[in-house]
Amino acid sequence: MTLASTTQQSQVGGGTATFPVVSATPIGPGVLEIDTLLGGWSRVTAGYLVEGPSPVLVETGSQSSVPTLLAALADLGVGPHDLAGVVVTHIHLDHAGGVGDVARAFPDATVYVHEKGARHLADPERLVRSAAQVYGDLLDRLYGRLDATPADRIHVLADGERIRIGPDSELVTVDSPGHAKHHLGLHHVGDGGSGILFAGDAVGVRLPDGGLLRPATPPPDFDLDMALHSLERFRQREASGLALAHYGLIENPSDLLDEAEGTLRRWVEVAEAAWRSGQDIAAALEQHFAADLEDVPEAHREKLETLNGVHSNAAGLQRWLDHRTTGQGPAHGHDH
Ligand SMILES: [Zn+2]
Repeated sequence: MTLASTTQQSQVGGGTATFPVVSATPIGPGVLEIDTLLGGWSRVTAGYLVEGPSPVLVETGSQSSVPTLLAALADLGVGPHDLAGVVVTHIHLDHAGGVGDVARAFPDATVYVHEKGARHLADPERLVRSAAQVYGDLLDRLYGRLDATPADRIHVLADGERIRIGPDSELVTVDSPGHAKHHLGLHHVGDGGSGILFAGDAVGVRLPDGGLLRPATPPPDFDLDMALHSLERFRQREASGLALAHYGLIENPSDLLDEAEGTLRRWVEVAEAAWRSGQDIAAALEQHFAADLEDVPEAHREKLETLNGVHSNAAGLQRWLDHRTTGQGPAHGHDH
């Protein structure tokens, strides 16, 4: 992995300055995309700063991204006592690994999280241990870990709850399990809002340099019905755009949501057929969807494979298939 050595121009508060490495891009009224440069890769992990009298950061990225993130916020003029809140769409380490560090750096910020994720932010040991099983040596080599956040800094979000950004803008939470049971979308609404819905990983992963949209179906929580229901809930929000954590703004939400549903169903179909016939799910997915990556350069494939690999998706699908139909394992699968 190489560290990004590019410089980006950023226009904030009327001034123009050149910052090393850090990239912040306006994507809508009051919304800045911050490239948190996981592994030094550009356009793989995004955080979003929602600006206003009470600015809120959406996603910290991994712990290894914290120096990049803090430099970006400093460059944007967000001082230690300026940030009102930090909210994570879910507690996977590529989204929330930096929360403990960010909470320390911004002592006035409230930490917002789904009720099913809150205890892990306060006491991350179990989460980090299970991440170590999934990521192996990537945990230390790429992601880092997760520092505890004092429990009294944590605010548990209910579905439909509103986080105030200013007199005419707020974030509304959209409970959206499926990718993870502790997943929330955040819709930036109000006269001063952008209309953008921060979609986390619920819609899938589409790297600007990495080809098509792919579903993200990791263990241990992936659930098809919940995932589809969450896509429907996003559709009902009629957002002006979807901001993916991996990566960036998509300006035609309904097309992307259609694509997400279709892609997810195809992946599940292939996985289920393999599962029923006792074949390896990862191999079946590889074989079926390898063509999607044909035109994607090797360097970009590596990003996608690391972040949203076929093996991780296969493991999540396998777990879901195994647990879904009690007493109807692969050996009995003769229907259809
Ligand atoms: Zn993710």
